[in-house]
Amino acid sequence: MVHQAMRSYGHEQITHVEDEETGLEAIIAIHDTTLGPSLGGTRLLPYESHDDALRDVCRLSRAMTYKAAASDLDLGGGKAVIRAGPDLKTPEMMAAYGRFVDRLGGHYITSVDVNTGVEDMDRIAAETPHVVGTSAGLGDPSPITARGVFAGMRACVEATYGSPDLTGLSVVVQGVGKVGTGLVELLVDHGASVTVSDVDEDAAATLARKHGLETVAPADVYGEPCDVFAPCAIGGVINDETVPQLECDIVAGGANNILEERRHAGALRERDILYAPDYVINAGGLITVAAEHTGKRREEARREAVAIGDRIRMLIDRAEEADTTVLEAADAYARERIEVAEDGPIPAAD
Ligand code: NAD
Repeated sequence: MVHQAMRSYGHEQITHVEDEETGLEAIIAIHDTTLGPSLGGTRLLPYESHDDALRDVCRLSRAMTYKAAASDLDLGGGKAVIRAGPDLKTPEMMAAYGRFVDRLGGHYITSVDVNTGVEDMDRIAAETPHVVGTSAGLGDPSPITARGVFAGMRACVEATYGSPDLTGLSVVVQGVGKVGTGLVELLVDHGASVTVSDVDEDAAATLARKHGLETVAPADVYGEPCDVFAPCAIGGVINDETVPQLECDIVAGGANNILEERRHAGALRERDILYAPDYVINAGGLITVAAEHTGKRREEARREAVAIGDRIRMLIDRAEEADTTVLEAADAYARERIEVAEDGPIPAAD
């Protein structure tokens, strides 16, 4: 299974680690280090089988390669999974895991993900320097992620309506957690007419009251007429059921894995809806931890996240030239960066 996974996903290294004393069972997957050391969070979940965990870590680490490459970062893609329920996590287990990360000599840098947090990264940091997202780091990346999503949304608005000005445009934000709330505040500041929606209806109502916004019930969010639909909650929200319901010109939001399947990018394009690839527009989080790794300040990370707007604009132009989706253009851009780096610097002309 490991060899098959490595071949089909193109991984450089997959390491299975176990520590009997602490009950640790983890897989660390390094997908590609052409552009730099691999960086990606450690996800802790009670996977039913080793194969389930392997599949997940392979998929997630490959996605990190594309995310870093498309974000102009000198980083590769990696990810790790620990096979355990959150109730089984102990400080000793995280320390043991940190020692395994250390043995990889910096080819893999870890960070927070589902069911791992700042405290866990602090435990790992006691064993290895190859960790970001610690309490000594740059802090919660969510406001910077929201900043990047906002910049990317403006680029989509400019490509669609001829000006990046959001004044008077209607935006529906699905999910008003850390990223969604940050985005709503930026949109309100820039004169957009915002409608919010959340399964936590109290959270949506509180934010709506604070800024004088409309709310829409979670079940009705897809059919709500607007200029921009911004998914900032969960994955898979653009699917066969929701694409026909959409009444917007643009889908641009912070959630991961917005499309249920890749083909839904094409389905949106067929409906003339511009889709900003999630892994490009929501890269502010990765940009923040990458900045932490290279010793940059939060302000620099924020500036780099604002540049997501230029990147989205460039990808929209490339997609138009190639008569394809922006997602295809983003993937091609990421692959190009890796291919150029593989061939090394182009020799100077005589
Ligand atoms: P969060 O947990 O703070 O907020 C998520 C919000 O979505 C919550 O308010 C929740 O009630 C709501 N929600 C859940 N299911 C919903 C549904 N079906 N319909 C409507 N609302 C629903 O999470 P967050 O950090 O704001 O992240 C939001 C999304 O952005 C996630 O997909 C995350 O993976 C992605 N993301 C976050 C960051 C970051 O820096 N936090 C970076 C990149 C990507």
